[in-house]
Amino acid sequence: MREFSKNVILKKMSQALFLLILLLPLLCAQGADSATRSNVTSIRHWSNPTYTRIVIDLDKKSTFKSHLLRKDPSLKKPRRFYVDINDALLGKIPKSIEINDGLLKTARTGQYNSKTVRVVLDIESIDDYKVFALSNPYRIVIDVSGKGTLKKRAVVPPAKTFIRPLTKTTVIKKAPKKRRLTIVIDPGHGGRDPGATGRRGLKEKDVTLKIAKMLRDSLKKRTKARVVMTRTRDVYVPLEERTAIANREEADLFISIHVNASRKRKATGIESYILNVSEDAESKRLAARENSTTISELSDLEFILSDLVSKAKTNDSVVLANIVHTSLIKTVKKKYRGIKSNGVKQAPFYVLVGTRMPAVLMELSFISNARDEKRLKSSKYLATLVQGISDGVVKYVDGA
Ligand SMILES: [Zn+2]
Repeated sequence: MREFSKNVILKKMSQALFLLILLLPLLCAQGADSATRSNVTSIRHWSNPTYTRIVIDLDKKSTFKSHLLRKDPSLKKPRRFYVDINDALLGKIPKSIEINDGLLKTARTGQYNSKTVRVVLDIESIDDYKVFALSNPYRIVIDVSGKGTLKKRAVVPPAKTFIRPLTKTTVIKKAPKKRRLTIVIDPGHGGRDPGATGRRGLKEKDVTLKIAKMLRDSLKKRTKARVVMTRTRDVYVPLEERTAIANREEADLFISIHVNASRKRKATGIESYILNVSEDAESKRLAARENSTTISELSDLEFILSDLVSKAKTNDSVVLANIVHTSLIKTVKKKYRGIKSNGVKQAPFYVLVGTRMPAVLMELSFISNARDEKRLKSSKYLATLVQGISDGVVKYVDGA
């Protein structure tokens, strides 16, 4: 009896082992799939009647292809735009996302085949589109623009993706009002992203927020502009969202506030940046740090950047950067010793990619420099920086 049950157990065990050997390659393959393939984890969007930004979030880098499809009346399909993401799996995200902003109707997602995720945008009316990828975390950004449709302006749902009330339909027949100028101020970093930290512990994210709030108050006093901030608290806001906010708000000016850092303790000075490719090693290093990427990931972006930089806006940005930088240096030099101007430069900053208005990113002193850090802690120094930037903006606005 004992012998018999022992045999049965042995037999069962060998059967189980055999099954395991059979299934092992399958189990491994599945594990390998989710380990090597990228997962599409979410889709985000921001819009107004003339602009929509869609961001597809992935947990790994993936190659992708995009296509524009014509309207197909026989299949009752509108004009569509789709992105095929290779070696990707669809995460738990909605199959259909309503956009209905006059440019796009819906974004649809699906596992097109075992290796490809397809994201389709059903188009209402668009004139132009741009697709590019940003790294760390990897995301594919689709910017579309157009004239929009008035009919649709009134029916855009009040989603979290919309701030500005759409009253254009009610005022459209009255005498055209002069549009109020809008300035967007972007305090760099925030929340889990502290930015650079000084030797005495001062964090870039806190300095930029202080400066941005002071600049907002100054510009509200000195101009009639509407001033919008990309953040007013210590919160994390992704770089592509900051750009989207400026575009959605139809900003006339975009000013991103940062402070610099270097391994060279003595490095000091103030520099202003516009978006472009860069040959300068220090500027590349800085852009990589501000983008939270490596320099090689930066070159991926530079490769497509020439297509993304609108020449007209680049010229306007150069004018804005020069005016603001000159007046800033002039003001700060009057009150402080040893202020160095590092000039107006260019580099591929993510936060400037896709901006549809003159845009400048300012590096206001080096937090890594002992004297600069001490100054950046003082409200007097920050007020002087703000005075200088504000002077420049007022000058630019008056001359524009
Ligand atoms: Zn920064």
